[in-house]
Amino acid sequence: MVGGGNVAMDAARTALRLGADKVYIVYRRSMEELPARKEEVEHAQEEGIDFRLLNNPVEILGYRNPDNPRDPKNGCVEAIRCIRMELGEPDEKGRRRPVAIPGSEFILDVDTVIMAIGTSPNPLIKNTTEGLEVNRWGGIIVNEENLTSREGIYAGGDVVTGSATVISAMGAGKIAAQGIDDYLSK
Ligand SMILES: Cc1cc2nc3c(=O)[nH]c(=O)nc-3n(C[C@H](O)[C@H](O)[C@H](O)COP(=O)(O)OP(=O)(O)OC[C@H]3O[C@@H](n4cnc5c(N)ncnc54)[C@H](O)[C@@H]3O)c2cc1C
Repeated sequence: MVGGGNVAMDAARTALRLGADKVYIVYRRSMEELPARKEEVEHAQEEGIDFRLLNNPVEILGYRNPDNPRDPKNGCVEAIRCIRMELGEPDEKGRRRPVAIPGSEFILDVDTVIMAIGTSPNPLIKNTTEGLEVNRWGGIIVNEENLTSREGIYAGGDVVTGSATVISAMGAGKIAAQGIDDYLSK
C-alpha cells in the first residue's frame, strides 16, 4: 500500500483480512507526519501491517519470462523498487520535506501494489458531456441545489468535493434530490 492516509490504512487492513500473507504500508515521511488518524494507525499496527516509513516507491517491477512470451505471469507485479528518505526543511505547509538518500534503493517483493495517495474524479464524464464545467481538480461545479452547469443535470459527492466522506456524499444526494424534485415540479 502506497500512502499514509485513512484510505491507505483501511485498504491495508482489508487486504490482510482478504488473505494477503503480508501487507506493507510504504510512506515517504515519518510516523509524525502520517496523515491517517492515530487510532487508524494503531489498529493497523495491532493487526500486523508492516509500516515502511521514510521509504518512497520508485518503480513497480513486473515479471517477464524471456523464454516464454505467453507465460501468464508475464507483466504481473513481482516487486517494487524503493528508496530511503530523510526529512529536510519544512515545505510551504510546514511539513518537513522528504528527501531521497542517494544510493539507498532496495527491492521489496510484493505481488500487488495499491496506490492510496488521493484521488481525483475520472475525467470521462467531463470529456463526454458538453458544457459541463469542472474546477481545476476536475471536480464538477454545482450551485447550492447541486445543479451543474448543464440544465437538468445534478451532481454531488466526491465527484464535486474531491475525496470526502460517505455522510457528506449522502447529504449531497439529498440536496440534489430536492433540486431535481423542484426542477421536475416546474
Ligand atoms: C479505501 C477507502 C476507505 C474509505 N473509508 C471511509 C470511511 O471509513 N468513512 C467515510 O465516511 N468515507 C470513507 N471513504 C470515502 C468514501 O468512500 C467516499 O467519500 C464516498 O464513497 C463517496 O461517495 P460517492 O457516492 O460520491 O462516490 P462513490 O462511492 O465513489 O460512487 C460513485 C459511483 O459512480 C460510479 N461511476 C463512476 N463513473 C461512472 C460513469 N461514467 N457512469 C456510471 N457510473 C459511474 C462508480 O463506479 C461508483 O459506483 C473511503 C474511501 C476509500 C477509497
